[in-house]
Amino acid sequence: MDALDIITDLDNVIPFFQPIFSADEHRVIGYEILGRYKGNEEIESLGPFFLDDQIPDEYRLEVDNTVLSKALDMAVDLDKDVLLFINRDADILMQDHGEQFLQMLQQYEEKGISLNRIVLEISKLNYKGEFDHLDHLLNYYKTFGMKVAIDNVANDNNQLDRIGQLGPDIIKVDLKALRSTATGPAFQDVLYSLSLLARKIGATLLFENIEMVFQLQFAWKNGGRYYQGFYLCTPCDHFVGRDILKDRLKNEFHSFIVSEKKKLESLYSMTENFQVTMQEYLTRYRKIIDYEELLKALVKHMNDIAFRVYICDEDGFQKTPNFFFTGGEWKIQREYLQKNWSWRPYFLENIIKMRYEQKGILSDLYSDIETGETIRTFSYPVNANDYLFIDFSYSFLYQHDGLL
Ligand code: CA
Repeated sequence: MDALDIITDLDNVIPFFQPIFSADEHRVIGYEILGRYKGNEEIESLGPFFLDDQIPDEYRLEVDNTVLSKALDMAVDLDKDVLLFINRDADILMQDHGEQFLQMLQQYEEKGISLNRIVLEISKLNYKGEFDHLDHLLNYYKTFGMKVAIDNVANDNNQLDRIGQLGPDIIKVDLKALRSTATGPAFQDVLYSLSLLARKIGATLLFENIEMVFQLQFAWKNGGRYYQGFYLCTPCDHFVGRDILKDRLKNEFHSFIVSEKKKLESLYSMTENFQVTMQEYLTRYRKIIDYEELLKALVKHMNDIAFRVYICDEDGFQKTPNFFFTGGEWKIQREYLQKNWSWRPYFLENIIKMRYEQKGILSDLYSDIETGETIRTFSYPVNANDYLFIDFSYSFLYQHDGLL
């Protein structure tokens, strides 16, 4: 495809629309507008054309505006609650401080497309100019009701601060990297940080490039409210019925809910089991006053279960050494005595919870700082003041369905 062919043949430059679905209503909540060129043999994506730095900006802008005006002409008749996602290159947008783009949208506002239905997708966080200027423009757009989405997130995980600064309404997360369930934990951790950030700044997560059912499940489980991808609907040259997937999505989400509830119930019952077992041991050894002696007795039951056991007071000061299982035996690590763990995430929250409920807590999965292994910790109130911590080994979690 020759760039010149496209520029001289704008009649055959057309918009395609990819529907975006929501988790809360299972309907089409919007469309991303994409550019296509109707060549002699087939319809080609204009993606490579728009990304080609060799093509002068004014040509790319002209083609981009052609796609947009044709798309908006068609969108005039859409339902008034359907959003329109429009891609714009930050560098090109900033050349006239975003004026032309705004004027175009305002023309269509008169025809019935309110600006609060427009979602501007900004993909270039590596924007070459002053980042503050871009930030300023986006804030200016927002005063007209326009929404801002940060596109193509998760391929570059150094952008959290910039995302935070821009305060987007929507964060688009590309799930292409999530091709198989074996995708490394690093990607999942990035997504986890993104979901926390989104929650903090009040942004909605949109997962795109969903091509398989497990990616949809992943998106649902990771706080995704909006979804887009071939698995749901391919881009095409017209709008689809807003409820086209309503029944299918309802069924699929139902199966996600069932399987997630099953997992949570099994975790809950395992926590109850640990609880009962721990109660039994503490009753059995109630005459042992010295904590170190108590742990010596307890760890005998934990060879294949835990790799680290210790007791802390409610301020997080360690009152015993670590009992650490290595090379087939429990070693006592005295250097841990009096260390303080109150700075660790959730530590004090969990202490207070245990104190009030007089029950143990099973942590989520996390990486142990020292061993790097994926572990869970079971914590348990020994008495009114002190708390027992048991770090379960990876091999134990691995052997028990539902713990990993
Ligand atoms: Ca996009």
